[in-house]
Amino acid sequence: MNPENFIADHVKSLPRSGIRDFFAIVSEMPQAISLGIGEPDFVTPWKIREASIFALEQGKTSYTDNRGLLSLRKEISKYCSSFFGPEYDPVSEILVTVGVSEAIDIALRSILNPGDMVLYHEPCYVSYAPSVALAFGEAIPVTTTPGNEFSLDPEAFEKAWKPGCKVLMLNFPTNPTGGTANHEKLERLAKFARDKDLIVISDEIYAELTYEGEHVSISSLPGMKERTLLLHGFSKGFAMTGFRVGFGCGPDWLIEAMMKIHQYCMMCAPILSQEAAVEALKNGQDDVLHMREQYKKRRDFLVRRFNEIGLACHLPRGSFYAFPSISSTGLNEVDFCHRLLREQEVALVPGTAFGDHGTHHFRASFSTSYEKLVKASDRIEKFVSSLDSENFESAAV
Ligand code: PLP
Repeated sequence: MNPENFIADHVKSLPRSGIRDFFAIVSEMPQAISLGIGEPDFVTPWKIREASIFALEQGKTSYTDNRGLLSLRKEISKYCSSFFGPEYDPVSEILVTVGVSEAIDIALRSILNPGDMVLYHEPCYVSYAPSVALAFGEAIPVTTTPGNEFSLDPEAFEKAWKPGCKVLMLNFPTNPTGGTANHEKLERLAKFARDKDLIVISDEIYAELTYEGEHVSISSLPGMKERTLLLHGFSKGFAMTGFRVGFGCGPDWLIEAMMKIHQYCMMCAPILSQEAAVEALKNGQDDVLHMREQYKKRRDFLVRRFNEIGLACHLPRGSFYAFPSISSTGLNEVDFCHRLLREQEVALVPGTAFGDHGTHHFRASFSTSYEKLVKASDRIEKFVSSLDSENFESAAV
């Protein structure tokens, strides 16, 4: 039996995530400090865990409605109108999913016919291009560049558009660059989406972790609710990655199409996670604010240290990632990260894991304790100084 004959071509050609391979190495190194993983170091707040435990004690162990518990959808509806802007009908315009990951997958599968195109900005979250490929779509990355701190250029989207583009996919605050979009740029992108009749998939999973200004959702702009799928979840702001719960809010026809795929492939999100999510939305805000304060302090420290070390780093306005440049070191991002891991036992993610334009950058997550960030930055400084003396010696030879 030749296994090659049994794996679908579009899956064979899918690259493995650059992050996973790297972290398989890190897991063998107990002394390593990891700034690599994109998840909160906080344990889920106790009252949220307790809600899940209580639900278990009450014997809540069944499937739920495919769309999610109505009590959760009602809370999501309230939360969206106060935090993101639009009002969504809990019955027809909200679908609870197994994380934003599932929502991205079923949204693309609902919308795309083979060959339809998806515009998105890159460097970006590792799953976007593979999710488009798995839905038989064509990914059209629009690059953001270090020159303007990877900020979004609506004109670049307008230039990249071609017939066949159906979806505009956005992620603010952005993983891995920490960028946010201001009102003016979002207005222009919204106009672009309306003019070109695009559906917008807006992944706003880091929305609560916005440090400068207010988070603005494109779904709240005039004429946008009816063409936007707002994706959000509990993994980041509420520190609930392991609960695997997220949601999509959008026009009823799109939610209905997504629900059809969801009911066959997933059935529903786990009930205990949904019960926890209800508590998160009802009573979790203070915890979110506390965690955000901590991330902000860590961000300010880490970005200052990177710049002191000579690794130019812009201030991420949201998320929990810094994305500094290593151009000054003369190494490429993969060698830099591998040597740093071997020589100083600090794990970072090479910027190219997030697309080609992440070259000469790495992603460092500040969802790590302050003490670890102090140690890690000292080790990175040692490593960079050792490169300086290497360069000096080879220049002298
Ligand atoms: N979207 C972005 C931008 C992310 O960074 C991540 C996780 O890192 C996800 C979606 C997936 O989130 P979830 O845990 O809700 O599946």
